[in-house]
Amino acid sequence: MDGKIKKELLAIVGDGRFRDQQEDLLSYSYDAFTVESVPDLVLLPVSATEISEILKIASKYRIPVTPRGAGSSICGAPVPVKGGIVLSMTMMNRILETNTPDRYCIVQPGVINGDLQTELAKTGFFYPPDPGSMGFSTIGGNVAQNAGGPRCLKYGVTSDYVLGMEVVLASGDIIRFGSRNVKDVTGYRLFGLFCGSEGTLGVVTEITLKVIPQPAAYRTVLAVFNDLDDSAATVADIIGSGILPAALELLDKVLINAVEDANNIGLPRAAEGLLLIEVDGSEEQVEKELALIIEKTENNNAVDIQEARTPEERDKLWQARRSLYPSMARIKPNCIVEDATVPASKVPAMIRGIRSIVNKHELLVGISAHAGDGNMHPLISCDMRDLDEMERVEKAIEEIFTLAMSYNGTLSGEHGIGIAKRKYLPMSIDEPTLKFMHTLKHAVDPYGILNPGKAI
Ligand SMILES: Cc1cc2nc3c(=O)[nH]c(=O)nc-3n(C[C@H](O)[C@H](O)[C@H](O)COP(=O)(O)OP(=O)(O)OC[C@H]3O[C@@H](n4cnc5c(N)ncnc54)[C@H](O)[C@@H]3O)c2cc1C
Repeated sequence: MDGKIKKELLAIVGDGRFRDQQEDLLSYSYDAFTVESVPDLVLLPVSATEISEILKIASKYRIPVTPRGAGSSICGAPVPVKGGIVLSMTMMNRILETNTPDRYCIVQPGVINGDLQTELAKTGFFYPPDPGSMGFSTIGGNVAQNAGGPRCLKYGVTSDYVLGMEVVLASGDIIRFGSRNVKDVTGYRLFGLFCGSEGTLGVVTEITLKVIPQPAAYRTVLAVFNDLDDSAATVADIIGSGILPAALELLDKVLINAVEDANNIGLPRAAEGLLLIEVDGSEEQVEKELALIIEKTENNNAVDIQEARTPEERDKLWQARRSLYPSMARIKPNCIVEDATVPASKVPAMIRGIRSIVNKHELLVGISAHAGDGNMHPLISCDMRDLDEMERVEKAIEEIFTLAMSYNGTLSGEHGIGIAKRKYLPMSIDEPTLKFMHTLKHAVDPYGILNPGKAI
């Protein structure tokens, strides 16, 4: 990047928030996917005004700008594939307001999801979206990816909780839409445009989120199966009967053992499938739903049902669920997490299909799923240096997506498209619709400077 342009940018953020040393640039060159690309510059802004000034310069000189939260994306979304500026949002990390009587909170984009949860827990309210990465991913990143998580089965995903936003456009214009009201139909619903836009349409600088009262009671159980198909059939049965648990997570034997090897939590190593099920609501509702769920698991040959008796036991089970990815990532140098999603009734067929595909290609794959909403996460253990293995991985991924499409599924339930899934988009989105998306992108970012090469 030209020294003159660097000087103009330095004048905006000052020395302490300007990084152009190689060791710094390398730190911003990757996420949790497999692609790396080094930016020319990293800037750490602290306000929408600074970002507006930066984007005006970037537009003038046609410099790519990639917003970045914690870099925990698993689809390459924050990797600066065309170089240019990485805009790290981590210094805009203040919770600006929590207002429980009016049921909202206002946050800067760099706030860590888990920090917001901890703050809200003191108020008796909560913010449901709980990605497995909640301990480190940012609300800005969650919004840009429209992140989900286990609780989203009952409570919905990030976009269901966004009430208002401040966004800086590529032109440098700062726009605000929505409000602090849980009901508001004034103007176009622009949240839908920016939630899931992967930093390609604007930089999110402030978010107003809906919060809801914590449920009075919850119960958490682990159902153990000697046959993975039985656990998958239980999922379809529970959802088909009209019960909506707060979470319904499935994991297979590969993952049970990976988690045990890494964490020694005490999961039953011999089991072929586990369901981690949580119900919440009033005492009475929880009691009733749990009884029905236990009946369904028994009808589908569960060999054991263990209930978490204390908050510590419950935390341990959730710790096991959240450690799937790091546990699998210890086995080989790389771990690719796929995200194909199908209607809940198709979960049993999808799991059988994934198993047959990965067996055919002789791959080591752990199957997990936010099973209640059909969101499959096969975790593919691999080594990028092994070209033969990577060819088989590619084939398996394409076959998994083709299978999901045959069940009226979708490419991504929550992880987004990034770089990883762009080439598969035509499987899911037809030509005129993709063209419309490109028209929208061009209208808000005519020079294509915002996170080029991603999402569409
Ligand atoms: C162990 C692990 C578990 C995970 N579990 C889940 C899960 O359960 N559910 C789930 O949905 N995802 C999950 N993920 C994926 C990832 O954590 C999410 O996509 C998360 O939302 C990314 O947030 P981040 O702050 O890391 O953003 P980044 O990875 O830094 O960025 C993600 C995208 O958001 C854009 N972006 C970031 N901030 C802004 C901003 N302020 N304005 C505009 N664009 C912005 C970036 O340009 C990029 O396109 C998991 C990842 C890991 C590593």
